[in-house]
Amino acid sequence: AKEVEEGVKYVKTICLFCAVGCGILAKVKNGKLVGIEPWTEHPINRGKLCVKGASINYTITSPKRVRYPLIKEGGKWRKISWEEALDIIAKKMMEIREKYGPDAVFFAGSAHTSNEGAYLMRKFMAFWGSNNIDHQARICHSTTVAGLGNTWGYGAMTNNFNDMRNSKAIIFFSNPAEAHPVSFFHIMEAKRRGAKLICADPRFSRTAAVSDLHLQFRPGTDIAVVWGICHEIIKNGWYDENFIRERTYGFEKAREVIMKYPPEIVEEITGVPAEKIKEAAYILAHNKPATLQYAMGATQHEVGTQNIRAFAILQLLLGNAGKPGGGVNAFRGHDNVQGATDMCVLSHTLPSYYGLSEKAWKHWAKVWGVDYEWLKSRFASKDFMEKKGFTMSCWSLGALAGTEHYDGIDQPSPIKMLFLWGHSTPSIGNVKAVKKAYETVEMIVVVDPFPESAVALAERDDGIILLPACTQWETSGSVTNSGRQVQWRDKVIDPLYESKSDIWIIFSLVKALDKYDPGLYEKFTKNFGGKSPDEITPEEVLDKEITVGARAIGMIGQKSWRLKRQKEYDYTFDPETLRSMAGPCKGEYWGLPWPCWNERHPGTPILYRNDIPVWEGGHDFRVKWGTKAPDGESLLSGVNGHDQMPGWTTNLETDYSDWLDKNMVPSGRGRARIFAWNLPDPVPVHREPLWTPKPDLAEKYPAYEDEVYGKFHFRVKIHAKSYQMAWLKKKLYEYSPLVWTSGRQVEHHGGGSMTRNNPILAEFQPELYVEINPEDAIERGIKDGDLCMVVSFRGVELGFTHAHVVAKAKVTSAVPKGVVFLPFHWAGVFEGKSYVERFPRAEGESGESLSPYAYGDTPN
Ligand code: SF4
Repeated sequence: AKEVEEGVKYVKTICLFCAVGCGILAKVKNGKLVGIEPWTEHPINRGKLCVKGASINYTITSPKRVRYPLIKEGGKWRKISWEEALDIIAKKMMEIREKYGPDAVFFAGSAHTSNEGAYLMRKFMAFWGSNNIDHQARICHSTTVAGLGNTWGYGAMTNNFNDMRNSKAIIFFSNPAEAHPVSFFHIMEAKRRGAKLICADPRFSRTAAVSDLHLQFRPGTDIAVVWGICHEIIKNGWYDENFIRERTYGFEKAREVIMKYPPEIVEEITGVPAEKIKEAAYILAHNKPATLQYAMGATQHEVGTQNIRAFAILQLLLGNAGKPGGGVNAFRGHDNVQGATDMCVLSHTLPSYYGLSEKAWKHWAKVWGVDYEWLKSRFASKDFMEKKGFTMSCWSLGALAGTEHYDGIDQPSPIKMLFLWGHSTPSIGNVKAVKKAYETVEMIVVVDPFPESAVALAERDDGIILLPACTQWETSGSVTNSGRQVQWRDKVIDPLYESKSDIWIIFSLVKALDKYDPGLYEKFTKNFGGKSPDEITPEEVLDKEITVGARAIGMIGQKSWRLKRQKEYDYTFDPETLRSMAGPCKGEYWGLPWPCWNERHPGTPILYRNDIPVWEGGHDFRVKWGTKAPDGESLLSGVNGHDQMPGWTTNLETDYSDWLDKNMVPSGRGRARIFAWNLPDPVPVHREPLWTPKPDLAEKYPAYEDEVYGKFHFRVKIHAKSYQMAWLKKKLYEYSPLVWTSGRQVEHHGGGSMTRNNPILAEFQPELYVEINPEDAIERGIKDGDLCMVVSFRGVELGFTHAHVVAKAKVTSAVPKGVVFLPFHWAGVFEGKSYVERFPRAEGESGESLSPYAYGDTPN
């Protein structure tokens, strides 16, 4: 921090909303946050901010914050001390462990904490003895991980925001102008330099408004759109033959599938005129390098994994992978959703994607300095230790049912205690099932700066504790943006009210448990010399554990980078530094993109470049799963990283520089899989969504059936088993249904608890609305501004009589006939009810109501 004005300190830090990772100058006077200013030298945003970042101080200092620990007893909220709260929680956890075992606790972690906080969440559940931990990434981008991982190795954005300036053409399957606003400044710079923009979106969005071509396709037909483009590319011989021959596997098999999708057939499926598909193919083939950008609109489908694979295959055909200006840029949502995924706040893996095998557990036991046998004894059994726990989607659909597969809602839930740590669960859907589950468990612990909507949703008189977490501007830690760039976010002010940092709360909870589980705290803090929760810093967590253990994604260099940055850079940047962000990896740049193989490695701004040496960020495709193809061809990459390195997991102190020098030379041996034989559809095909309003197309392009895909998508199992299905579908068609598509607003973020508590943002966008096409509105007698009830058949299908929200009609031709759009930041308006009165206010308090919806309340 530098002192510029008298009494005002300017602290350079990072925005805490979305995964663009913009830098902001926070103004602090007398220890108080008094405003913000643009940080013009920050390479990612260069002083630009969207309205969320520009008004961030109003979120941090919002009077709607949770101020002290609260407990609900006999229907009333009572203020309690931290000590009492943690003791109640610890006692309950032990009681549940005794009665039902460690797996009766489910931990919904957060993508809004630092890497250090996320890492400690996973470590906490490992020491507790359960894999029942998950977070937002499961809902948002797990299909990205499966889709990209199965195609070329890492399930992450291949390039970075700045690099999009180097693209000559960009095809969007998203709406970055509104969803990731500052990223769009790099995109507009590309356009200024002559890049062609193609927007594929069922809705005419702000991104579509500045694009050269809008492919307005029917929701759920993404694969057909991509295959139509690929058909034209193959038919006209515009594909990159050398690239396909040298760096991919299975093109011929894909060709057979793709050639079944000529633009005329694609027009029938998608509604996009054949001429526009041809034009898109021409633009992409004649403006290289081109990049493909997508976000949650593509991932959250029954065929999400296959959508993402189709995107990657398009880029492979064009030879656009592993190049500046190319790649597949998956824009992620929350500020640290990439980091929380890397730290594996996930039920199926340990930090740095180590899986749950005995070898993986032994690796981490060694890092933590504990005996593997002791760690094993914490679990119900070795099987449970190596078995995937519940996921967020299982929780929402199945926790109530008592099984991951939701075989029926009458079984008792195995989950008895629930942590909602920076996680707004109602926003994940199936709200009625979630609500019932909230009312069934014995205790819910909510840890959040704001009274997360679960607090209001659960209609229960006892058994909820609300702990005030501070925001990420009241603590420090590393944060990984969507471009894999790890940045250090400095603390701006001390925690407000009685709030505490995530890492303090985790260490303190372990200490509270230690009273009933002697020796736990000593083991948990072995690498920190048994220091108290007040003394352990995020820097120590990064340096002593994350950089030592998280080798699989190459987090090793983070420590040296952090120290170097503090010592040498002093927050100054030279223009060359800034430029290097956008081009080939050379020199220094802000943030360190993983993989970063040792302390002198510069990081990898662009994945899969095999034209530069490893020590400049070169890397080849690294498909991990099933590296031997059915025909015996080995796809094993010559730069496959930790899994080939001798003693990589056991020799934590060894510097592998020599080995890396000799072995990690891009060799061209790493192949991307166009044909992924391990998936039910090795080459993606169009499948109509289960709830399609087009029964004729459903016959022709059937959705996944249980026997084909059930093992992979338990959700499909539910559908296939539902005896109500036929009746419901009949009803559905009687109602001439509309397809509901969703997305982000510039002004709000996620489930809305942070932004709807910001008076500025709540004034700009005060309420939920539904965009409806004028023809549909006339048919239904709806006028602009009318309140409408939007009913979801999904809720009906799950056995509930009705599930709806109330929203104000916005009659607009931005949405085509047959489609409505609702932004997804309004979980709390479930069934149109306002929850204002139900939000906690401690007895005897005369302060403001803690309702997140008190600003710009919802229509009743
Ligand atoms: Fe940047 Fe995202 Fe913050 Fe907006 S919300 S300022 S785009 S990081």
